[in-house]
Order: sequence, then structure tokens, then C-alpha cells
Amino acid sequence: MSDSLIIGAGISGCGAAVQLKKAGIEFVLLDKNRTPGGVIKNAGLINNYPGFEKPITGIDFAKRLENNLREHNIEIHGETAQKVIREDKGFLVITDKKSYHCNNLLICWGTTPKKIKFKGVESLVEQGLIFYEVFDLFKKFKQPSRVLIAGGGEASMDYALSIVKRGGRADIICRSEKLKGADTLIEEVNKKPEIRCFYNTEIDYVSIKSGKIEMIVKKNQSEIRFDKYDAIIGAIGRKSTLTDLLTNIEIESGILNPQKGLYICGDARKGTLGQLATGAGDGVEAAMHIHSLSR
Ligand SMILES: Cc1cc2nc3c(=O)[nH]c(=O)nc-3n(C[C@H](O)[C@H](O)[C@H](O)COP(=O)(O)OP(=O)(O)OC[C@H]3O[C@@H](n4cnc5c(N)ncnc54)[C@H](O)[C@@H]3O)c2cc1C
Repeated sequence: MSDSLIIGAGISGCGAAVQLKKAGIEFVLLDKNRTPGGVIKNAGLINNYPGFEKPITGIDFAKRLENNLREHNIEIHGETAQKVIREDKGFLVITDKKSYHCNNLLICWGTTPKKIKFKGVESLVEQGLIFYEVFDLFKKFKQPSRVLIAGGGEASMDYALSIVKRGGRADIICRSEKLKGADTLIEEVNKKPEIRCFYNTEIDYVSIKSGKIEMIVKKNQSEIRFDKYDAIIGAIGRKSTLTDLLTNIEIESGILNPQKGLYICGDARKGTLGQLATGAGDGVEAAMHIHSLSR
């Protein structure tokens, strides 16, 4: 039985881990990717984290988390949590590799992307040409030449700017009549000739020709042909997975400590309202609470 188990090594899981370590509380930190950072690895530039004088990239931020964990001798176990069961005393967590009993469970597993759907999408998925995070796209295409992004929110704009930074071009297909997000981000996107935005449009059908993606896009009653894309990124939003793994636990979402020993931190708690600073805050607060009860 370990005292505390943290599922997820994004900012909230890392925040909790460092604080528990400082408090001398025994814990295990799991992440399915075995690397820290979570979704922040996709951010083009971060300029709202307290104490950082200059903006840094999401990848650099994740590197800092990695160094921070190393400094504190904290190891990440590369395991995927598959089931969480409430026991008389504490919790049982079943992963793809083993089982853990713990007194305190910190759910820091973030959110998952909503999947894009249109005719022909399965064949692109089979060929590894659909992505939901720009970080994953760059693992396959170091310098993508042309990418189509489905979605009109901040993530789609952030992804488009990151693609342009690597010398590529991006087209944003947006269902609504305008982009939604911070004015400064929209302005930046509008300034880039390499980014085109198509409003009131929706992908209808995709196929592959000579290794490149082509598609039919619908705008009002008319159809437009788009072609020569390396890949498509789905950026139509993310959703909570909170209840997916909880077997006999019912909780009201949005609460940091809804039951004895259970802590929901970061985006798992706040959804799309989550930011780095709030995630770090949740992780640290959960660890402080566990520490205060142990004294
Ligand atoms: C494109 C983009 C740009 C952003 N830019 C900014 C910004 O500039 N400033 C800012 O403050 N915020 C920004 N954010 C928001 C910020 O990234 C998030 O709020 C924050 O990183 C969430 O951290 P988290 O720890 O809650 O979850 P996540 O970062 O999602 O971490 C969850 C971790 O859990 C792991 N995991 C998931 N399921 C399991 C499982 N079953 N078993 C084991 N491990 C699991 C995942 O691998 C992941 O590492 C941005 C987000 C995006 C997508």
C-alpha cells in the first residue's frame, strides 16, 4: 500500500509530486507517456505563467518540468491507469502493468480530444495522418509543408502558428463565422499570409491521392475541393474523462477534494478553463492537504 498515487504527469501531477516529495510523503507518479508535460507540449508560446519574464515554448516548459522532477529524484512510471475502485480503506488502481492500493489518489489525467468525424476519416487514421496534438504531428512530420486544421478555437490558432514557425502552411476550417479566442492571438493569425481561415465550412469527404490528402469541404450549399495536405489536425475541443475510469465512485465534478483521500486536479477538474497556473495550484494544494492530515 503506497500512501499516495498520482495519475498523470502534466503540470498538476508534477506540482503535486514535488510538494509531496518536499513533505516526505511516499507516493507513486504514473503517466502513460512516461514523460512530463501533458498537453502543454503543444503550446506555441506561454506568456502567462507567473514568474516567467519571457515567453517560452510548451516544449521548453515540459523540459523544465523534467529537470525539476530529476532535481527531486522523482521517477515517472510509464503505465496507463485503466480502472479506479474505491475500497474500504483508500483506492485500488489497476494499470496496464499492475495494481496499486493507496490511501490518497490524485487524479491529474487531464482531458482527451474530441474526435473529428467525416466520410473517409478511417482510412486516414489507419495511415497515421490524423492528429489531435501538434506535438504528435511534429514527431512524424518535422517540417510539414501543408496541414489542415479542423476547429476554430485557440488550440487551432496555436497549432497553425507552430506549423508556420517550422516553415509550413496551415488552413483552418472553421464551422462558425469567426475564430474564437484572445484578440491578440486572432490578430497574430490574421497577420500570417501562410495561414488561411475558411468560415462556415465543414469537411465532408477525405481521400488520399499520391500520398497527399484531398477533400471536399462544404460551405453553405456549395462544395469546394481542397488538396495537397500532409495531415489533418482535429482541434474541435477536449472533453473530460473523469467518470470513464471510476468504477464505484460517484463524484460531483469541479471539486478539488470531493471525497476523503480523493483529489481531482488541473484540467481533470477545470476542463477547458484550466491553465498551467491553476493546474500547478491544484497539485500543490492537494499535496499540502495530504501533508496536513498526516501530521
Ligand atoms: C495548444 C494549447 C496551448 C496552451 N497554452 C497555454 C498557455 O499559454 N498558458 C497556460 O497557462 N495554459 C495553456 N494551455 C492549457 C494548459 O496546457 C493546461 O491547462 C495544463 O497543461 C493542464 O495540465 P494537467 O496536468 O491538468 O493535464 P495534462 O497536461 O493534460 O496532463 C495529463 C497527463 O495525464 C496523462 N494521462 C492521461 N490519462 C492517463 C491514464 N489513464 N493513465 C496514466 N496517465 C494518463 C497524460 O499522458 C498527461 O501527461 C494550453 C493548452 C493547449 C492544448
